[in-house]
Amino acid sequence: MMERRFIPTRRGFLGLAMAGAGLAALGASASAAKVATKAKIVVIGAGAVGTALVNRLVERLDGAEITIIDGRKEQLYQPGLSLVAAGLKPANYTVSQTTDWLPKGVTLVAEKAAAIDPVAKTVATEGGTKLGCDFLIVAPGLVLDYDAIPGFSLDMVGTNGIGALYSGPEYAAKTWEAAQKFTEEGGIALMTRPATEMKCAGAPLKHAFLVEDIASRGGAAGKYEVHYTAPQGALFGVPIVAEKVRMLFGQRGIKTHMSHKMLSMEPGKKVATFEKTEIDATTKAEVKTTVDMPYNYLHVIPPQRAPEVIRQSGLS
Ligand SMILES: Cc1cc2nc3c(=O)[nH]c(=O)nc-3n(C[C@H](O)[C@H](O)[C@H](O)COP(=O)(O)OP(=O)(O)OC[C@H]3O[C@@H](n4cnc5c(N)ncnc54)[C@H](O)[C@@H]3O)c2cc1C
Repeated sequence: MMERRFIPTRRGFLGLAMAGAGLAALGASASAAKVATKAKIVVIGAGAVGTALVNRLVERLDGAEITIIDGRKEQLYQPGLSLVAAGLKPANYTVSQTTDWLPKGVTLVAEKAAAIDPVAKTVATEGGTKLGCDFLIVAPGLVLDYDAIPGFSLDMVGTNGIGALYSGPEYAAKTWEAAQKFTEEGGIALMTRPATEMKCAGAPLKHAFLVEDIASRGGAAGKYEVHYTAPQGALFGVPIVAEKVRMLFGQRGIKTHMSHKMLSMEPGKKVATFEKTEIDATTKAEVKTTVDMPYNYLHVIPPQRAPEVIRQSGLS
């Protein structure tokens, strides 16, 4: 019998993650018996994680009442956005219907979760439905905070040398329109990444590699520069990957600007402003300065945050 509990704390959430790892181990054995339970399980978010997890739960549990909440009908294959933004796939390559991925025995509530009450063990939807549960799985992904970049707005994407491929399939396709112009005409490409945690730390690198490669074979050959900027001190969190990227960037002539956090942009002037952090050699203190960098193509990846419903819930 599955233990009945809710997850009001980070510790509890980690406990569930460990239970999930246990389930994954059980799933490795095709002959393992299902676990009998009457547990009510609510999953917030039917993205990559929520959808994968409910498939595993249905496979492994007998009698559980599983509900998944998501206001978006479309399932996005986000890794594919990098290919769309390089003109290698059409926008619809990344889109399917979430219902195609949900197993029988799972109830989909097609609304956004609006509030979580860890004490009462309920989740309220935007439409006012209140769902009680024994287990809550929180998987609503990350929110892109474009308001944190003064000068930027989504309607600019695809025009005037501005790309933002994280924003979804249509914006990834528009990003390619702007990037393609650069690969044909040349100039300066500025690639950015945020200082926060993010959906994919590889995608900024992929975009830089793909755009540079296409430019090197296109009309821009011999008349372009690609500059990769990042607030972090390394190109990737895994040292061996960071070193490989550093070597490949060197071979490709991609210039790196580490400890550069994008602050704002002036689309009219085609200039982006960065905060550059250096360590003073004498005092060892951090010294911050602002640096303006011109561009012909600018790829914007804004700061990313937990959705409002999580920030308000006390779970974080
Ligand atoms: C450009 C890009 C490239 C990537 N490339 C790779 C790669 O090559 N390899 C790799 O492993 N990963 C890659 N990723 C990362 C991968 O896509 C994510 O790690 C993965 O999608 C995270 O899954 P998730 O379920 O947590 O979030 P998502 O898949 O983002 O799903 C979150 C879901 O929650 C829903 N939601 C949000 N708020 C609420 C709410 N209040 N109530 C209910 N539902 C809500 C959303 O509608 C969405 O359906 C990439 C991501 C991007 C953006």
